[in-house]
Amino acid sequence: MIRKFICPKAQTQIFHIGLDDTDSSEGMCTTFLTFNLVSRFLKDKNKTRLIDYPNLIRLNPNIPWKTRGNASLVLRIESELTMAEVFRMCKNMVDRFATSKHANAGLAIFEGEKIPDTVREFSRRALFKVQSLSEAISIMDKIGIRYYGLRKRQGLVGALAGIGNELKHDHTFELIAYRKSCKVKRSIDKSKIIKMDYKTRPSTYNSYDEENNRVLITPHGPDPVLLGIRGETPRAVKQAFDLILPLKNLLGYMIFRSNQGTGEHLQNVIDLSKLKAYTSGKLKGTVSTRPHIERGGHVFFELKNEQGRIPCAAYEPTGNFRMKVMSLSEGDLVEVGGGIRKKTSRHQSVLNLEYLIPRKLVSLWIEKNPICPKCFGKMNSEGRNQGFKCKKCAFTSKFISKSRTEVGRELTQNRLYLPDMKAHRHLTKPLQRYVHGKLQVEIGRTEQERLVRDWILTPKN
Ligand code: ATP
Repeated sequence: MIRKFICPKAQTQIFHIGLDDTDSSEGMCTTFLTFNLVSRFLKDKNKTRLIDYPNLIRLNPNIPWKTRGNASLVLRIESELTMAEVFRMCKNMVDRFATSKHANAGLAIFEGEKIPDTVREFSRRALFKVQSLSEAISIMDKIGIRYYGLRKRQGLVGALAGIGNELKHDHTFELIAYRKSCKVKRSIDKSKIIKMDYKTRPSTYNSYDEENNRVLITPHGPDPVLLGIRGETPRAVKQAFDLILPLKNLLGYMIFRSNQGTGEHLQNVIDLSKLKAYTSGKLKGTVSTRPHIERGGHVFFELKNEQGRIPCAAYEPTGNFRMKVMSLSEGDLVEVGGGIRKKTSRHQSVLNLEYLIPRKLVSLWIEKNPICPKCFGKMNSEGRNQGFKCKKCAFTSKFISKSRTEVGRELTQNRLYLPDMKAHRHLTKPLQRYVHGKLQVEIGRTEQERLVRDWILTPKN
């Protein structure tokens, strides 16, 4: 994906710039800082060029200290500027934007073409584990990565992890538009978004949750983001954006390349004998207790395998997904993915479910009293091992037993079940991005019709 631009006149260097934790729940957004940094670099086009789309790397979504979606931002540039000059420009930008006392900002800059394996490995683990700041710093010191942090400097973890994820495999794009003033309420015509979604899906995804009638491209916080449209290609997200123009209070937009919608954080296999809080991943096991609903509408069941047992939860916001979870029976073999909630004095570790695939469903039977072979009336039991007697003609037999009928299961083996779209994480791989193959995709009829009609892109695995 990375394009190289060789400038014959001057010597150029490649820089990978990682940024994280410049925002807080009071406002700002690291993507907005990146947007401004790109504008700054491009002011002097002859000196600096982007060699990739700005990267929006989502890290472990189960980290409790994230502000929203645990995003790390990376710029990969080719420049005539020196490391000192690039570093100064980026540092100034961080100082200007990361002003909240909750922004534990991190900036890391690696100079060179090939990302070292240690950084790639750190990045791989940051998708599903908790990584330490001291490890990040020790790696940067060893390799000679220049870094700068504010306050607790936790952002350095994300900044380094972002650099290490070059999105070499599955990836998507997001067009993020920014607003001029954060004081002006976001007001975008809902019908336009629904139309845009209808026209552009599946080349775009998760713009509108039809089931819950909810628009998903606009955030609700005080940050400068006006909207974000996610899709398969830069062209697709730009075309979708054009369909909702003009927009009030629009400052500008930028397209990011991302691991969003790829499910990258769930490739790790969770070992129940070595449970660590906030780990993301998947595991297989047998349902060992019948699912039940608790106060607030949350559904729980227990899963066991050779390594141990764990309660699994599908919370209220996951919507109809809970009904699928409720349909599980003891003995079902399932694959589940999600994040480990920390153990407290009140409850043990819990796996918060992000997907469910029933791998082998047990057969369920109902038993009914037999029908009288003489008059077809209903028969009643005469007591344990005493046979049955017809209520109508009083025919009695010790050789008749209850009839057994297999009950159809609500769930389908090897089918993927996901929470409602409104509850998806940024990294959740939506149904439309799976190819028909190993996994059958469960989609509603209207959705299916639309997919068939509009299937203009081959989704990636
Ligand atoms: P936004 O989505 O608005 O950019 P955010 O959800 O990305 O915000 P941050 O404010 O950036 O949240 O906070 C996330 C913090 O967690 C950062 O400091 C980041 O470096 C750190 N972090 C990310 N992944 C890990 C990880 N795997 N282990 C430890 N720390 C991590």
